[in-house]
Amino acid sequence: MITLKSDRELEYMQIAGKIVAETHQKLEKAIKPGITTKELDTIADNYILSCGAKPAFKGYQGFPAAICTSINEAVVHGIPGLRELKDGNIISIDIGAVINGYYGDAARTYPVGTIDEDWAKLIRVTQEALDAGIAKAIEGNRLSDISNAVQVVAEGSGYSVVRDYVGHGIGREMHEDPQVPNFGKPGRGPRLRSGMVLAIEPMVNAGSYEVETLGDNWTVVTKDKSYSAHIEDTIAITPNGPMILTRI
Ligand code: MG
Repeated sequence: MITLKSDRELEYMQIAGKIVAETHQKLEKAIKPGITTKELDTIADNYILSCGAKPAFKGYQGFPAAICTSINEAVVHGIPGLRELKDGNIISIDIGAVINGYYGDAARTYPVGTIDEDWAKLIRVTQEALDAGIAKAIEGNRLSDISNAVQVVAEGSGYSVVRDYVGHGIGREMHEDPQVPNFGKPGRGPRLRSGMVLAIEPMVNAGSYEVETLGDNWTVVTKDKSYSAHIEDTIAITPNGPMILTRI
């Protein structure tokens, strides 16, 4: 069941979204060669708590950290640890926060130091794919119009979109209906209505879309070890168009 949020609820979701966006800003400044993913996790955890919110991923199905840190060929759900970032890496960071009972969720892929132009382009196209999807998040469109727009942009640059993980509705739960795939034909699925709030999150691979999970039972990597980018925003559908809750 897709729940529609009231204006009051959207105000709460804006608060959650802003905390997530600010946490990303803190991490963006901290990312440099030599820092460990655990140190990034601590920065995020402390900042979210200082806002009176809670990190939404911590303890979620047993996940042991506040954020997900996925380096290079890791797609999503990487666990922070003692690995140090190296010049030329790319790192996808996914952050969730809950406050007043409402969730915000956003991911970014960051360069570490100086990166190869190939990976810079991968990140740029993933951002463009997300933005194309958000542009379709308009009252009266259908859900798969978003999915198709994301896919067309990503595949138009020769990349692939991950099939096994998708975006989602969000609100009083981190994962609500509907699922929001990053691929598919347009004109399908539920009609979009004001008050729907969605986390749209393309995972774009430089090679094949196939992924597998590592032995830690969390980290999802590309099967062919090609690099992957993941960019996500929580957005609300309003009479005035899409409202992005997780950007400042
Ligand atoms: Mg999400």
